[in-house]
Amino acid sequence: MIFSRASSVARRHAVTMAPRSFSARSALPAAMADRLCKYIDALDDRSEPVVRLMNADEVRSKFNEAGISMSLLGNQAAQSQDALMEATELLLRYSVRTGHPFFFNQLYARADPVSIAADWCSVATNTNCHTYEVAPVYTIMEREVLAKIASLIGGDYTGTHDGLFVPGGSLSNLYGMHLARNRADPEILTRGAVGGPQLVAFTSDQSHYSYLKNARLTGIGSNNLIAIESDEFGRLSPEKLEAAVLQAKAEGKRPFFVGSTSGSTVLGAYDQLTEIADICKRHDMWQHVDSCWGGSVLCSEKYKHNMAGAHLVDSIAWNPHKMMGTTLQCSAFITRHANVLESTNGTQAAYLFQPDKLNRELDSGDKTIQCGRKTDMFKLWLQWKAKGDAGMAASVDHCFAIAEHMANKIRTDTTGAWKLAYEPSCTNVCFWYVPEKLRPFNGMAATQAERDEINKVAPLIKNEMQRQGDAMIGFQAVNGRPNFFRIVFASCDIVSLDDVDGLMERIARIGDEQYAALLA
Ligand SMILES: *Cc1c(COP(=O)(O)O)cnc(C)c1O
Repeated sequence: MIFSRASSVARRHAVTMAPRSFSARSALPAAMADRLCKYIDALDDRSEPVVRLMNADEVRSKFNEAGISMSLLGNQAAQSQDALMEATELLLRYSVRTGHPFFFNQLYARADPVSIAADWCSVATNTNCHTYEVAPVYTIMEREVLAKIASLIGGDYTGTHDGLFVPGGSLSNLYGMHLARNRADPEILTRGAVGGPQLVAFTSDQSHYSYLKNARLTGIGSNNLIAIESDEFGRLSPEKLEAAVLQAKAEGKRPFFVGSTSGSTVLGAYDQLTEIADICKRHDMWQHVDSCWGGSVLCSEKYKHNMAGAHLVDSIAWNPHKMMGTTLQCSAFITRHANVLESTNGTQAAYLFQPDKLNRELDSGDKTIQCGRKTDMFKLWLQWKAKGDAGMAASVDHCFAIAEHMANKIRTDTTGAWKLAYEPSCTNVCFWYVPEKLRPFNGMAATQAERDEINKVAPLIKNEMQRQGDAMIGFQAVNGRPNFFRIVFASCDIVSLDDVDGLMERIARIGDEQYAALLA
């Protein structure tokens, strides 16, 4: 009786509350899915531009011309499905095709199609994974994916670990520093970041800038984040680290955290984790590894030696959304210390984590510094199931094979056109293209005037390639080296050795043309 009254109330609401265009709007997902499947299939097309370069006014005017302005100000009329699809069409057309085989700009690239499908499922179920009661399946999957990652790390991680999927690597690194800070100074949670020991953290000068942001956020302060000069490969030097730790101790400070890196953002350098673990043990410091970029080697028997000693560290950050091509964002934080997340971050909010409800012990929400959280684990879980361990390893190995092919071509070049700016450690290849007029170029042995000229070349090539919609590749200057290209091979299953050869020919042609035009 009560039940039927309730459902008739629901029916009445459904009738009176539904806006007129409701049925048209619910047809949109099907139209969108169909369009996006075509978009994904067309990503292989090398004749499509990677980018249709436009400034902000040009983008706005494309939308105006199509009759659907960017602005949401003023009185907005309800738009038809056709208009919504037209806006989507423009978005697809003028967004950078990060799934294009020639998108080498960042540490992420083409999204794995299985993870795209999983991501669609995540948003269709619209699940917040803070509690088991609303996210039973995702919660179990998160534990399983973390257990798999732990098994690849090995050591104590296989037995006990704790972890979370968090919104990006910078946040993963924040978790590492935050747990370390709480361990070194537990009272800071109540007392605040004043009047306690002067905590000091260490990292290399090649580490990700999130360590700096996180030192500010956690109240450590940027003055207490010591950047240790890196070695010739861009690695944290253990000797210099220990000297800095001893000096901080002599000054009465409390060294508490070392932020090591496996696969640095620019150079791809892998710090020596075992040597650093020894130092951390001697001086009672928490060792975190930022393997956001380079952590994918854990999937490969051939390359996991780069992270030897990972099982010794206290916590690890890994972004499958980079080399593995899991859709953005997918970032894992894992620590070998059981229950440390909840004991540090838990507030036992009475309205979410009721102690007397079913399955309370499976809630992940009180481990986080957020409240709600996306279900990013499913994208990696489904991708892993689809590829298997061998497929995951093959994708990593292919990125390395392509990078090695390019580095070898540069090493063996006899024309003076190419020069490595650094020996590659990961799948970042850092190189100079040297226009004919600037040869020979001797890298760091060159005069300042020669380096100043080389400094102009990468931006010239980059700009022209963007104008043409050709490959996107990043460049920068590091440690006195003038601007060099950093091409990154991430999630590059569809990139072939021929693609690399063709790309190098185009870089050379554009480089000579653009530099000649600059001189003219
Ligand atoms: C990309 C990257 C990060 C940051 O990851 P986000 O997900 O972009 O926040 C941190 N560390 C390294 C080494 C990275 O390459």
